[in-house]
Amino acid sequence: MKTRSVLEGIGPYNPPRLREEISVDYGSEEYVKLTMNELSFGPLPEARAAIIETLSRAGRYPDRDATPLREAIAHAHPGISVGNIVVGNGSSETLVDLMQILDRPGEVVIPWPSFPFYVSSARVVGLDAKKVPLDDHHRADLDAMLAAVTRETRAVILCNPNNPSGTYLPLSEVRRFADALPEDVLLILDEAYYEFVDDPLYSGSHDLVLESDNVVSTRTFSKVHGLAGFRVGYALAPERLADLVWRVHVPFSVNQAGQAAATASLGQPGAIAERSRQMKRERERVQDAFETAGLEYVPSHTNFVMVGAKPQLFEKTGVLVREGEALGYPVGWSRVTIGGPEENDRLLGALA
Ligand code: PMP
Repeated sequence: MKTRSVLEGIGPYNPPRLREEISVDYGSEEYVKLTMNELSFGPLPEARAAIIETLSRAGRYPDRDATPLREAIAHAHPGISVGNIVVGNGSSETLVDLMQILDRPGEVVIPWPSFPFYVSSARVVGLDAKKVPLDDHHRADLDAMLAAVTRETRAVILCNPNNPSGTYLPLSEVRRFADALPEDVLLILDEAYYEFVDDPLYSGSHDLVLESDNVVSTRTFSKVHGLAGFRVGYALAPERLADLVWRVHVPFSVNQAGQAAATASLGQPGAIAERSRQMKRERERVQDAFETAGLEYVPSHTNFVMVGAKPQLFEKTGVLVREGEALGYPVGWSRVTIGGPEENDRLLGALA
């Protein structure tokens, strides 16, 4: 059978190590999983109720256009209308949908280390990924990224804040970068961790989307909304681009329960903000403990911290973290998701 040779160079998703794969036997106690930047909270009560309510309709296809969900998203972003919003089975699907609308062959410029899915998904759709190293402060190097743009560049992805470094760029810098990019290059702002950044100078990229023809931002319900298992993400995009995305999008990919849960969760901005505050308090505690233990770490604006310690250190107390080398960092670094208070106690117990 003649299959695409480009697929030979792409491994399947490289998942975090499982309990069975690590060297320390921690006995019968439950392991703590701090590998995938999930929130410890799970869905809000309102989202849980909405999910249950959809069961009676599970024999029917979901709303293809996700209209109530898109209306709720529009409501949360002043100036954005339903025509500016596309949804996906997680923001992962939305990222792929966006790459599908780009002309080929060509390349996508990305910061590195960043979300490894950019590389594999670009290749799958027939584009090359061009990696531009982060600067000395672990931030995306915008000058170097601009210099990397060529006539072959179809898109630039800015992961803001960046996974796995946890660093962010304020809106003024993003805006300057967007202005300097050629108009035929798509700027994708991946804002999966948007809700965890405190700086008022960070937020507001939806204005940039509305002012430009070539800027989109992607968001997810997998993080602060605690709905990773229900797979809902979206993009804010100029209408022309949103229209193209709907043409490549797999119909009905966002299931009924996910749509209902995400809509209900958006209806509780106070509870969501409180979760974010709780996570940040725990993040401070974890970072302070790293500091006291003399560990190097990258001050984080997300729900994870990149720290100069091997995963094996944390396995002593039964905590699984993501090994840095799987994410483009050197051996001896780990990405630690901020868990709930008890989970973080276990994590910090390893430093004693
Ligand atoms: N972007 C970034 C930077 C991520 O870290 C992740 C998930 N870890 C995603 C996008 C995708 O998340 P989801 O598909 O669950 O929305």
